[in-house]
Amino acid sequence: MADDPQQDTPNTTTLATQTLKGSADCFCNGTGEPKVHSKRDGWESHLAYTFCQCVAGQNSHYGPIWNQVGIPPHFQDFTLESSPHILDVDPHSWLYLHGPVGRGKTGLAVGWARKLIWDGSVASALFIKVPRLLNDIRASYGRDKSNEDVLKPSIETDLLILDDLGSINASNIDWLTEVMYLILDSRHDNHRTTIITCNRTLIEVGELIGFQNAWRIQEMCGDNGIIELNGANLRDK
Ligand SMILES: [Zn+2]
Repeated sequence: MADDPQQDTPNTTTLATQTLKGSADCFCNGTGEPKVHSKRDGWESHLAYTFCQCVAGQNSHYGPIWNQVGIPPHFQDFTLESSPHILDVDPHSWLYLHGPVGRGKTGLAVGWARKLIWDGSVASALFIKVPRLLNDIRASYGRDKSNEDVLKPSIETDLLILDDLGSINASNIDWLTEVMYLILDSRHDNHRTTIITCNRTLIEVGELIGFQNAWRIQEMCGDNGIIELNGANLRDK
């Protein structure tokens, strides 16, 4: 169907044309409603959506993805702008954010994840507290689930946030080393971005989960991706 600016029917195409008269960028009139097209694929026909580039359009495009990440409610609204830290790294670089408790590591990780989703760098993301993941693996023993089944979501998501890596119990080093290796090695091989927050340095993490894992993290983070967050304890404010 040809676009006709004079046409008065309230369909998305007309709405788009009308709105474009006033604004170069927004066709949704601030509603966030996408344009819906019917696409033919061989014999099948399905709906395709084009989202507006305005704030409302981006929210309706990326909001549903964001809601699936599993960010704890306390951190849901964190953005890069709300973090006291400035991050200047490649979107595909891994990040290792370390420092004492309360320095804003998780907030910065969440802000960065939000940016990567909102600019379309990643199509899926998962937030995982490492101690909880290990509990889930332990709980799966004796059931019909393998390590790989439990780890699959963390391995396959475009962006993984491994929160609080340092707070794991060192009672079974070999097992921890193996679990972390399965995750990190697979994500490395498939070029999937990973953000790690930790209250230990990378050397200390090497002592905890093996230097093979620490080197992999170092390799993927490069010089700019290993960031120590110090300064004031934000929880005191
Ligand atoms: Zn719009």
